[in-house]
Order: sequence, then C-alpha cells, then structure tokens
Amino acid sequence: MGRKIYIDGEFYEKDKARISVFDHGLLYGDGVFEGIRAYNGRIFRCRAHVDRLYESARAIALDIPMTRDEMAAKLREALEVNGLTDAYIRLVVTRGVGDLGLDPNKCARPSIIIIADSITLYPPELYSRGLDVVTVSTLRNHPNALSPRIKSLNYLNNILAKIEGLQAGVSEAIMLNQEGYVAECTGDNIFIVRQGALLTPGLHTGMLDGITRGVVIELARKAGIEVRETILTRFDLFVADECFLTGTAAEIIPVVRIDGRSIGDGKPGPITGRLLGMFRELTRNGGE
Ligand code: PMP
Repeated sequence: MGRKIYIDGEFYEKDKARISVFDHGLLYGDGVFEGIRAYNGRIFRCRAHVDRLYESARAIALDIPMTRDEMAAKLREALEVNGLTDAYIRLVVTRGVGDLGLDPNKCARPSIIIIADSITLYPPELYSRGLDVVTVSTLRNHPNALSPRIKSLNYLNNILAKIEGLQAGVSEAIMLNQEGYVAECTGDNIFIVRQGALLTPGLHTGMLDGITRGVVIELARKAGIEVRETILTRFDLFVADECFLTGTAAEIIPVVRIDGRSIGDGKPGPITGRLLGMFRELTRNGGE
C-alpha cells in the first residue's frame, strides 16, 4: 500500500509529499526530530518521545504550533491512516520556509512532517552473533557548541563518525567526548556489564538521552541488576564482561568486538540476553 505522509495538517500520497527548497530544515538542518516505534498498534513510550521533541525544540527556540496531546494524537492518526500496527514513525519539525539567510525569524511557521513506515531491522543473526564496532576519531559535539541532548536535524557529527566506521568495515561506531570519555554511538547509546552490574555513560558525558536507554535502566533495576550511570573510558569497554547498544530501531543489540578486542568470551552475554528478553516482552505486550 502506498504510504501517506502527514505534512502541516494534511496527508499526502508518498510521491506527492513535498516540502519547499526554502525550508530551513533542508537549507540549514534547522529543526528537530524523533524516531519512534509502534508495536501491536501501540506507540511505544509515546509521551517520552513527544516530550523529548518539545525539549529539543525549546532548546533551539522553536515553538511547535501544536500541543503535546495534539501531537500524540497525530502520531496515532498517521498509523491508522496507513493501516500500520508495527511501524517506525519519523516525526520531523523544521523551522519552516524562510529566505536564503540564517535568520529563523524570517520563517513564518514550523513545518510538521510525520512519516510512518515499516521498519528495517538489523538482520536477526546479528542479535545472536553480536556486532563488531570501532572507536572513531570524530568526537561527539561539544555540549556547549551543539548539545547532543538536542535531537536536531543536523546529524553531520554522527554521519562523519558513521563514515569512519563504515571505512573500517563496521556498521556502528563509538564516539568519545571532548575529554576522551565514551559518549555514545552514532545512533545508539552504549552499555557494558562488569561484575554483574550495568554501567553506562552519565548524561553529563554529552549524548542523547535515549528513550531505550531509559527503558533498559528501568528494566534492569526492576530485575535487581545494579545500574550505574558513570564515566567510561575505552579501557572500561575492553575489559567489560558484556557490551550492548540501545536505540529505538536497534532495540538492544549485543557488541562482541571493540577495536579488535573480543568482549568477554566474544559471544553475546547472559545479562544482555536477559534484558533483551525483558524488552521484547514489554513491547510485545504493548507495554508503556
Ligand atoms: N544516540 C543517538 C545519537 C541517536 O540518534 C539515537 C537514536 N535516536 C540514540 C542514541 C538512541 O535513542 P533512542 O533510544 O531514543 O532511540
């Protein structure tokens, strides 16, 4: 079935869904977005995604011309209109149409775009085999230059890191912050397991406050696993018992090699497997 895309109040057939070349989202990456999943007809952590979108928008002084409840209702409508129950939803809010200068005040009103589509996952064998990743030399944006907490349309920092990873023959790459501490991957957060405890970089390290990261922390605590948000170096990764990445698209994916070092015994670990099982259970049951 042809997809219907929401743009500023209307649904358009995919090949008729267009925005202006003067939109500052295109000209300058001036805008914010979310990647959201629906499982069994329910939008997973809808409120958290909508809240993060509005916070990203606030941080770039962009007023979204719709309430949070209206936005959540539009997301549900986009699923219904497309007859989708399991989907990936891309929600984009740009600064809108302006002139060729930077001035956001010349953009009359933000453009709101919702694309709901089926999702392409990492192949299932990667979840049983685990990923091979590398650390790249492109540092994560300094929080005082462009905060990684803002999920902005300007993803060049991550894309440059992704290119380095691809050149090294891997599909995900670890980015360090300005102090050399582990921050996150190009589109995922990172966790390690060490002596039965779950460790992940604290938000002050400078990375996206991932919704899946938050869910995993919650699930682990519920299961009685100790969780520490802390500072991690590459050394901590190399000597970890287990490592995995989290993200809306990837869910929870094990990592078995980092910069050529095997992690643990080189196979996805038991705590990773347990958390993935709990995560799948939660989403299968349409959990919130
Ligand atoms: N970090 C970055 C840079 C990302 O783009 C994403 C994906 N949105 C994540 C982490 C994971 O966040 P979430 O769990 O909210 O998808």
